[in-house]
Amino acid sequence: MTFAEIIGQDEIKNHLQSALQQKKISHAYIINGEAESGKMMMAEAFAAALLCEQHGIESCGECKSCHQLLTHNHPDVRYVSAPKVMEVREQIVGDMVVKPYSSEYKIYIVDHAEEMDAAAQNALLKTIEEPPAYGVILLLVNNDQRLLQTIRSRCVTLNIKPLRNEQIKTRLMQTYQLPDYEAEVLTAFAQGNLGRAVKLTESEAFSEARKDVIRISSKILNTNDAEVITLAKEYQSKYPVRIKKTADKEDGTKGASEGDASNEPITLEEFLDLLVVWYRDVLLYKASQKANQIIFSDALAQIRTQAAKLDYESLEWIIKSIDKTKRQIHSNVSGEIALDSLLLSIKEK
Ligand SMILES: [Zn+2]
Repeated sequence: MTFAEIIGQDEIKNHLQSALQQKKISHAYIINGEAESGKMMMAEAFAAALLCEQHGIESCGECKSCHQLLTHNHPDVRYVSAPKVMEVREQIVGDMVVKPYSSEYKIYIVDHAEEMDAAAQNALLKTIEEPPAYGVILLLVNNDQRLLQTIRSRCVTLNIKPLRNEQIKTRLMQTYQLPDYEAEVLTAFAQGNLGRAVKLTESEAFSEARKDVIRISSKILNTNDAEVITLAKEYQSKYPVRIKKTADKEDGTKGASEGDASNEPITLEEFLDLLVVWYRDVLLYKASQKANQIIFSDALAQIRTQAAKLDYESLEWIIKSIDKTKRQIHSNVSGEIALDSLLLSIKEK
């Protein structure tokens, strides 16, 4: 992985590359961005450049170090995912005492770092404050506010920005040979997140989730509370709050890969994103009575029906409520409770 392969994110790339150029590497970085937004790619591009035998601002892709990194076999790169306090002690704090094997640096890529509890974060604190000269910790988080202020204040925070729709659309058309129209639809769903767009492009689960969105929004208008709760239960098991990634290997050198996106289920958050797109469609149709800007263009009949039944105020309220539920899931309210109460409150409207 190289910086050049990453689309957009110029601010972060410039920051890291000028750090490489001036040899002013911080000991701890937070890479903050939503799921599938490319945090791991950025971390690996940085690690590759940092460890590359050419010592440039971009990895060469040819040297031994670059090959080891590409195959997740680099002896001086450790992958850790959502560590508990014991794992922080053993796999990071304890391990960092041992000098790098073949490089100037020893890099710890901590995926899902926001899931560290206070004990785990506190265990990490001293290492972040006083690391050995070769130690670099990269904390990958989908919400940096879940890290303790004491951790945040000692790290350089790099925020992944959403991409422009045009950047995503172009990449989808080039890489996946998608026709213009299809790329447009997926881009709209992806909301600035290329990783998500790619995942959706390859995903059967996505087309299934589209159908479920149409189904639930119609049911909400036509059925009783008990049936809505039954549906909510069904969707909770179908759409997990988070996808479990491949577990790290014992030695901490492998794993934490993004996996085969086409087989991954749609997450609850993505399902809610789809639901927002649906209600925006209904709202848009209600306002314009035109089908040309509708994203769910294959479900025009249902959109027309719902646009007739729901008033503007309710639609805006529903869209806001879905966004609120997404935030609740981020701040760790159980997905089950969140989805139940969301669907019931939409129904009451
Ligand atoms: Zn290299």
